[in-house]
Formats: sequence, C-alpha cells, structure tokens
Amino acid sequence: MHYVGRFAPSPTGPLHLGSLVAAMAASLDARAHGGILRLRIDDVDTTRVVPDSANRIVQSLNAHGVRWDGEVRKTTDRNDCHAQAFARLVERGLVYGCDCSRAQILSIHAAQGRPHERGLELYYPGTCRAARIQPDSTGDSKGNSTGDARLAWRLQVQEGSESFDDRAAGRITQDVAEEIGDFVLRRADGAWAYHLAIVVDDAADGVTDIVRGDDLLGTTARQRQLQRLLGFPLPRTMHVPVVRTPSGEKLSKQTQAPALDDQNPMASLIAAALHLELGGYLEASRWDTHRLVTAQSIDTFWTWATAAWARRWRIG
Ligand code: GLU
Repeated sequence: MHYVGRFAPSPTGPLHLGSLVAAMAASLDARAHGGILRLRIDDVDTTRVVPDSANRIVQSLNAHGVRWDGEVRKTTDRNDCHAQAFARLVERGLVYGCDCSRAQILSIHAAQGRPHERGLELYYPGTCRAARIQPDSTGDSKGNSTGDARLAWRLQVQEGSESFDDRAAGRITQDVAEEIGDFVLRRADGAWAYHLAIVVDDAADGVTDIVRGDDLLGTTARQRQLQRLLGFPLPRTMHVPVVRTPSGEKLSKQTQAPALDDQNPMASLIAAALHLELGGYLEASRWDTHRLVTAQSIDTFWTWATAAWARRWRIG
C-alpha cells in the first residue's frame, strides 16, 4: 500500500508528552502500514517560533526513537508554493480583504444576540465580504484596491456541509460556512495562515495519511474545502485523543507541560503508548513494563508498539 504520513510539530518550545503522543501515533501508523513518514517543522507562525526549538525537537525525536524519511523540511521553505496556491484562489475571485479586529467580531456577535462562547472558535460573520476588497495576485496588501496595508485575506467558503470518515473519530460532518465562516488565508502581518500552508505542504509532500491530535479535528473540514478548491488529493485522516490536564485542558506549553527528558526516554514512551491505549494490545506475556524500562531497548519498544498498533487498528 502506498502510504506517506507526516509529523508537523510547531517549533514553539521543546516536545512534551502531548507532542510525543502525536509523533508516536503518526510514526506507528506509518510503520504498521509499511509506509514512510515525513518530518516537517510547522514554523508558519513566525511570531511564535522559539529560537533553536526546531533543533531541540529533532534531538528529542531521535532520543525517543522516532524515525522519519528524507530531509527535515520547514513550512517557511515553501513560501513560494503558498503564494502560488493563494494566487489561484484570488484568480477564482474567492479571496477578500478584512480589517475586522477580534474585538469588533465579538461585538457583532453580541449585537446579533449570540455571544461568543469562550473556548469555541470565533465564527466570522462575513462582515467585510460585501466590500469585496481584492488583493493583487500575490496578496501583497499594498497592492490591493484600497492600498490598506493592514488587511487580512479571507476565503469565501463554500456553502453546505462537509462529511468525512475519520479513522479514529468516525463520521464527522461540519458546515464550514455555518460554523466557522470565511477563514483567514493570509494574516494582516503577511504570514500565511496555518490552513493554507498545511494543505499546500501536505500536497507537495504527497501525504496520503494525516495522523494527529483530535484538537485539530475541527480544522479538517475547512482544510478539505481548500484541498478541493486547489485540486489536491484528500488524505485519509485519523485524529487521536490529545493528552489533557486534570482540568481538561490540552497539555501544552501554556499549561506548563514539562519538556521530555531525553536522558530517560523509556518512561515517556511507555506513558505515550498507554495514552494511545496500546497496553491491552501488546501480547500479554510481553507487556512487561519493568523489563522494558530496565532494558532501555528503544528499538524493542518500537517493534512491540508497532505490532500493538496494527492489532488495535486492524492493519495488515
Ligand atoms: N503544528 C501543529 C501542532 O503542532 C500540527 C499541524 C498538523 O498536524 O496539521 O499542533
């Protein structure tokens, strides 16, 4: 079977248990399918990049036995491809400029009697659509019809609901126009938005399978719209549960997740495997945590975990 997976960590700090779970799921799925895995540093949001964290991430993945194929790539290496994809959407008349601030969008919600709920994504009510400010094909703000350099560029999304079968989460249906609204393709600071960058990069890398945390499940429908509009293939998806703090928040740098200990990888590997519910799928006689921990055999861990993953998800 032709299988190309990817792991796309953001270089916003060192890897923690939550990122190891995502890396492990992507890696095990690729291994269980006999496929390949690409490693791409998702540095699209340059304002959040922490210097040297990409190097630390690569070191940490190595220390934990995560293997990938080919060179490590960076999202910003493909800025030209992002610009070309954006230009194609502009040519189709699907992009318009928007100068709404978050505060303005919130007050529109309040005025319409449906105040925004904290924690949910901020629905964009299409306020600037009617003004139809068009970018030049590069999306250079100064080249637009008003000369306003502070505009974000939004995609006029397609009406109707989008359904897909996620391998872990099951049947998902989302109406992007109703639930998300026209989303940003290029930010006012000139950075490409994550959704545009990721679909261009996945297509360029020939990705057939996206395996990632379920915090991104709600982004898939709009990414599928973009893939369709740009004529890209639609990868299969699998969204695995992210690690949460006792209060239910996603484990992240913001929730003070400790960095992985590269000197002691086995403890984190086992914690990640248990989070992915692999414990019950390891052959009982082999599920000997103590032996694994003391043997420190990372290769053995990955061999066992791959077999468990294949059993859990009925692969092969
Ligand atoms: N860079 C994103 C993250 O670290 C993942 C992007 C993706 O897998 O689509 O959460």
